Amino acid sequence: MGRNGFQININKDNIIHNFNYIKNSTKKDVITVVKANAYGHGLIEVIPILIEAGCSYFAVARESEAKEILNLNIPNIKILVFETLENLSILDEHKNLEMIINSLEELKEAIDLKLNFSQLHLKLDFGFARNGVYYEQFEEVKNLILQNDLYFKGAMTHFFASTPDEMLQIQKQFMETIKFLGIDRFKVIHSQNSAATLLKIGDGSTHVRCGISVLGMVDIGLTDNNIKRSWSLVGSVYNIKNFDHLNFIGYERISDLNTNGFKKVAKIKLGYGDGFSKKNTNILCHINQKTYQIVHISMDTSFILVDDSVNEGDLVEIYKDFEECNNYLNMAHYEYTTLLNKRIPRIITKNTLK
Ligand SMILES: *Cc1c(COP(=O)(O)O)cnc(C)c1O
Repeated sequence: MGRNGFQININKDNIIHNFNYIKNSTKKDVITVVKANAYGHGLIEVIPILIEAGCSYFAVARESEAKEILNLNIPNIKILVFETLENLSILDEHKNLEMIINSLEELKEAIDLKLNFSQLHLKLDFGFARNGVYYEQFEEVKNLILQNDLYFKGAMTHFFASTPDEMLQIQKQFMETIKFLGIDRFKVIHSQNSAATLLKIGDGSTHVRCGISVLGMVDIGLTDNNIKRSWSLVGSVYNIKNFDHLNFIGYERISDLNTNGFKKVAKIKLGYGDGFSKKNTNILCHINQKTYQIVHISMDTSFILVDDSVNEGDLVEIYKDFEECNNYLNMAHYEYTTLLNKRIPRIITKNTLK
């Protein structure tokens, strides 16, 4: 990390707690979604924690992410990839890799290529994402299933940007369609993302497919006190300068800044090169239980207006209050946690005894 650098702390106990809470409260198996570097938590760091929690089923969006997990050579885990693979032969090479069939054309292709259907999940679409086979095609899909005697690993749908009422409706249509296609043709049935899981919308599904909730975040507008945050961005003050006699803070001319009567600026080793975008300019961070403004962000460093109570080496926390930051940035917390890149080390921490 380098002296006085920034790090992302990942709370292992809380991830294990969240996983167990979801598993026990739904009484379903959990497919943990670890796409986008586990939403910025760090894929390599999070997977062993989840395995310790008892998770053996992971999902990602992209082929490249599936390969990243396969390269870890972890025994006895399954990996589901949402997008259609470019290179279908890796299904043959890795029997623990599973893929979603995202359209009728792909279903026909899978039949032609004699893919192993015990590695394939059929995606059903109910008018939201336009990704998957849809209502007008269900009859043809059923005929293909019967003619080719297909037994899939699973059937799934996704509640894409929908309200609780819409989710309930989709779940009902989803289960009716599976019964129409033949429920015995699908070993696992899954539809619930974190929101639907916490709202308990998923009657008939065998598995839940959760990402953010396992990692300790809930969707905006939802609260569930059982989900424990597992992510924090912390570092320390690298140095402090009195800027009374200076013309610039970083690359910013001081006369162009609103310094609010502050006379000192603290430098931190975090910048847009770490994925901490200039859009964060003027956001508040926490030092010694007080909030201070980050007034300038460059590629490697940022600058905070501070008072006399702040010293070099003091702990700085950024994005401490997700709700406040979401409002300020007009962004979801899982978007800016995901944006922070691999230049920032992910450090695993545990709860200390209370
Ligand atoms: C991202 C994603 C999920 C997980 O959603 P969360 O809100 O993070 O739980 C589930 N299913 C699909 C298809 C996804 O793309």
